[in-house]
Amino acid sequence: MFRQNKKRISSRRHFSNENSGSQFIMGQRGSEAEKRLYDKIYESKLSFYELPPQGEITLDQFEIWAIDRLKVLLELESCVARNKTAKETETIVKPLLQKLLPFNTDNLEDKKKDYYSHFILRLCFCRTKDLRDKFVRAETLLFKLRFNMLTSQYQTKFVQSLDLPMLQFISEEEKIEFSQELYQTIAPQLQFQLNLTDEMQRKQYFQNEKFIKLPFESVIDLVGSRQVFLKKGFAYLPQFQQLNLLSREFSHRLEDELMRTFQHLPHLNEDDRLIPILTHLSTGYTISDYQQYSHDFGSDSQEGDINSQNVYSKEILSNFPLCAKNLFNGLQQQHHLRYNGRQQLSFFLKGIGLSADEALRFWAEAFTAKGGSMTMDKFNKEYRYNFRHNYGLEGSRISYRAWDCRTILSKPRPARGEFHGCPYRDWNVDKLTSELAAMNLTAVQMNSILESCQKNEFTIACTKVFENTHGQTGMEIDDQTHIAHPNLYFERSRQWQKKHNGDSAAQAK
Ligand code: SF4
Repeated sequence: MFRQNKKRISSRRHFSNENSGSQFIMGQRGSEAEKRLYDKIYESKLSFYELPPQGEITLDQFEIWAIDRLKVLLELESCVARNKTAKETETIVKPLLQKLLPFNTDNLEDKKKDYYSHFILRLCFCRTKDLRDKFVRAETLLFKLRFNMLTSQYQTKFVQSLDLPMLQFISEEEKIEFSQELYQTIAPQLQFQLNLTDEMQRKQYFQNEKFIKLPFESVIDLVGSRQVFLKKGFAYLPQFQQLNLLSREFSHRLEDELMRTFQHLPHLNEDDRLIPILTHLSTGYTISDYQQYSHDFGSDSQEGDINSQNVYSKEILSNFPLCAKNLFNGLQQQHHLRYNGRQQLSFFLKGIGLSADEALRFWAEAFTAKGGSMTMDKFNKEYRYNFRHNYGLEGSRISYRAWDCRTILSKPRPARGEFHGCPYRDWNVDKLTSELAAMNLTAVQMNSILESCQKNEFTIACTKVFENTHGQTGMEIDDQTHIAHPNLYFERSRQWQKKHNGDSAAQAK
């Protein structure tokens, strides 16, 4: 699978079931045969990922492709957790999908990326039931989203390519024979699900609609709600409802495949390069797509915009995510922060645009403020180097980036007297509830956030807090993607605040 270690790999037993008669997708990297192979798989743009790939990719591709897919899956999960409608989810995820995992494309590399990344993530998420469920749920969402993005011509082509015995369309003659019953059954759905309010529109839609005939027990939930016409033990399902069936089939197959993958996982333990990558990826449901700018100042902050004085202003502090607020409060209470807290807050402030000089001023003032016991001399001796080091001005001269949520969550939990970490993970329910109540959130909003915390979905809880605290005035949030980086929270909050203030000023004129 990997170009870099061909010899080693060819001598190793492949991750396959040699006795099961499993087939593989073979193909020389970049060859005509490989191109033809992927053209065939993606003839109808979508795939059920039936045969594992066994071409060659580099370790970099292995990791980057998997991370990119993970970002898309995370975004989808986050949309569901935040109760976004199908339309809103499409609007939020589509740009990310086009950037990271384009599927409606003729490019061989894109097709391979989609195919391989799915199988790599199978390896990561087959280890426990929780991970398997999570992966199946997210992949099924992705499948549904993509299916809905296809033209009806490609949808039909895809369904036909699956050759599922249960998905056979009835003939025109059979449709005419039951046309009255079929129309009466689906007319309410056309009106309320597809918004075809006009009778003429509904009839025209019906004329072009295809029907699938299948044993009624395959769609028992639709039978219960009288959404399908029944005849002699068969249900007649309109094509616009077929996605339910397809996605169920997709999930069942993937569940089975993940179990099979899990059973064969021990073979993979021979590979000391892959295990760390896979372990790292399977904990990656907090991966952030936030790009920090190379000058290390948030895109919305000019150098000088944030300084050691105005960082204390109510306006700026209101843009902080809870983790940064907590660190700030801790610093003000104790006039000191221990190592992890210092690093987390220092990198965050650097990321929002506090320059090195301003940062030194800020930390010196905070540590030596009235009420504390530190002298300027001690600060200069013991801490000055640390803060200069964070800006790449000392030692190895690496200019460090702000920690994303994943890094923050990977650090040891805060002990007594420490303030680093993520409050959605580290605070008890009472403390978190009273903090959320102070943000004027409703009981329903608070419950939903606490529920996410219970499920260990801390970044989803944080994104919900952002939406609930920034949507209160009815002004729309432009970017509704998932937040998995404190600096993204800050940047988005600040943009929203500026827009909000601008709108209020314009209205006052
Ligand atoms: S989810 Fe991330 S940004 Fe939000 S509080 Fe936790 S660490 Fe901070």
